[in-house]
Amino acid sequence: LFSRKDENHQTTIPIGNTVVGGDKVLFFAGPCSVESRQQIMDIAYELKEAGATALRGGAFKPRTSPYSFQGHEEKALEWLCEVREKTGLAIVTEIMDPQLVPVFEQYVDILQIGSRNMQNFVLLKAVGKSKLPVLLKRGMSSTIHEFLLAAEYVLSQGNPNVILCERGIRTFENATRNTFDINAIPVLREKTHLPIIADPSHGTGNAKYVLAVSRGAVAAGADGLLVEVHFSPDDALSDGDQSIQPQEFRLLVEQINSIAHAV
Ligand code: PEP
Ligand code: MN
Repeated sequence: LFSRKDENHQTTIPIGNTVVGGDKVLFFAGPCSVESRQQIMDIAYELKEAGATALRGGAFKPRTSPYSFQGHEEKALEWLCEVREKTGLAIVTEIMDPQLVPVFEQYVDILQIGSRNMQNFVLLKAVGKSKLPVLLKRGMSSTIHEFLLAAEYVLSQGNPNVILCERGIRTFENATRNTFDINAIPVLREKTHLPIIADPSHGTGNAKYVLAVSRGAVAAGADGLLVEVHFSPDDALSDGDQSIQPQEFRLLVEQINSIAHAV
């Protein structure tokens, strides 16, 4: 089901008042974690103003250590829902528990499957039964073929709306948190009709590389970018090192839009 049949075969997925997979590069932006009602409300207005289509923010966080901040969970979903009503931004947030699909459906617009759950087949089947689009992140040690078969799990349950997200893979290189696999973008483009977005934040793990990798990803053909933005990265409860500030996000949107026209 994921296979591209010919050059013009391209899925577009409605998000807010636009689509991903069409002519426009979309921006999915926001903090790694939803930290408070005020934080998520304030940043949402900034991001909308700068040109974001969707707000990202983790309510349930898949942290490496059980002692790290785990997210504000359902309370954060309620805040996100309120932000959607006030700003009109679409909401994307990670789901980890298949049993919570009906709860997420009440509050958000797009279900994110995290890198660590790319091969959680029970979860993939559960979101495959949902009507909401799924943003599927590449497993950090997955091949492109495994990534596409994970998408197939969702598609095979009747949900046609899968957005693929290249977010970097584990390699021997340790100068960056992950190695952003630019190759994945043209390879996926050839193999599938599904929209492809890039996550330069997790792809690099370092705010100072986010702009350059964003430019590269869009030049390579990405349909959108998922970017972590925080007012005060040093104080972020997760992924501060890779979070850019709202003024940097503004610059990123301007630069990307000029590249996108050229490509
Ligand atoms: C995230 O988007 O904050 C996240 C946890 O990403 P990944 O699953 O790619 O590590
Ligand atoms: Mn993160």
